[in-house]
Amino acid sequence: MKPAVFQYVAPRTREEALEAVRRFGSDGKILAGGQSLVPLMAMRLARPATIIDLNRIPDLAYIRAARGGLSIGAMTRQRTAEMHRLVIERLPLLAEALRLVGHAQIRTRGTIGGSLAHADPSAELPAVAAVLGGRFVVASTRGERIVDVSQFFTGYLTTALQPHEILVEVQLPAPPAGAGWAFQEISRRHGDFAIAGVAALVRLDGDRRCTEARLAFTGVGPGPVRASDAEAYLAGKRLGNATVDEAGRIAQAALDPDSDIHASAAYRKHVAGVLAARALRQAAERAKSQG
Ligand code: FAD
Repeated sequence: MKPAVFQYVAPRTREEALEAVRRFGSDGKILAGGQSLVPLMAMRLARPATIIDLNRIPDLAYIRAARGGLSIGAMTRQRTAEMHRLVIERLPLLAEALRLVGHAQIRTRGTIGGSLAHADPSAELPAVAAVLGGRFVVASTRGERIVDVSQFFTGYLTTALQPHEILVEVQLPAPPAGAGWAFQEISRRHGDFAIAGVAALVRLDGDRRCTEARLAFTGVGPGPVRASDAEAYLAGKRLGNATVDEAGRIAQAALDPDSDIHASAAYRKHVAGVLAARALRQAAERAKSQG
């Protein structure tokens, strides 16, 4: 199918873009990489009256070092971030997760901001933002506001973004010094959305006991899901096989996923627990002992 008729505007500056989203409100839709929006329009699941194309605003695409972590402009292509020296050095978890997003061709067009704003419940980047404690810079003609990741994802394909706002930047703090990381997922074929996935961070002391563990799932809820019970269980423990498997079981028990055409709820739940244990093991192997 072809999209329904729409009007097209292509602002050249951030100010023009903010003015356009103010003017068109909920009749307008931002076009970033188009990798989710264009298929939805072609299937007529989305019928925006006006498309506001951000692709002619170079100021919205950048990767900058900031307070140990990174500030990433919303229009940065996923593939650019995946290959970027600062991402590989400071946030290897992000680079690892990006390699699992669709195929290279999709990541060459798809943007970091587009993935986060679209908020697909099986997307990798929301889980990465959740495990790192990301912050979202949201702009409108009235100014900017910062939204913490815990407040940003509000439901299935839904975020705290209002129709008159643009996501302009995501700020991702660096993990604690020496922390190990891992992103694990299961998908039916390479490049498909995850059936379930998990981002993990682990910090160990000189005795290789866990001083901090963070886990955030994708594919098992309307948005990213932190596994706070499993995180609390791991504190102070040596991450041997039995402990890690038990953490996976605790994390799994707290999940309440839905069934869909891709997998049953029971399968998603089971796989999520297995992946959590796998990710914790890999993150612990990568962690450097502290102190
Ligand atoms: P668009 O499609 O242009 O926009 C998506 C939505 O976000 C629209 O509603 C748009 O209005 C809004 N939006 C975009 N940017 C902003 C902004 N700055 N401020 C406010 N709103 C904004 N994704 C995964 O995470 N994992 C996968 O495994 C995966 N596999 C894929 C496989 C295929 C075959 C395809 C086609 C896509 C896949 N994707 C996957 C989706 C891909 O990552 C998209 O790039 C991403 O979901 C949307 O980013 P985009 O830049 O293309 O945004």
